[in-house]
Amino acid sequence: MNEAKDGAGKLSRLKENSRLECRICWYIYDPVQGDELGQIPPGTSFSDLPDHWRCPQCDSDKEMFLTIDD
Ligand SMILES: [Zn+2]
Repeated sequence: MNEAKDGAGKLSRLKENSRLECRICWYIYDPVQGDELGQIPPGTSFSDLPDHWRCPQCDSDKEMFLTIDD
């Protein structure tokens, strides 16, 4: 019975420099760049984004982003 744990642990597994891709519009959040539209300064990791942050292209919430493995 660790369903809840699985959901909550998702973001904490992210590395600081992980890039994530929006699965709706394929926008890529790169921590090196930050998000100028969302007033996120460069160097902000995805897990440090505010909870209200949304995809600047399609307005999806953070749940819709997937880690890019490279
Ligand atoms: Zn998007």
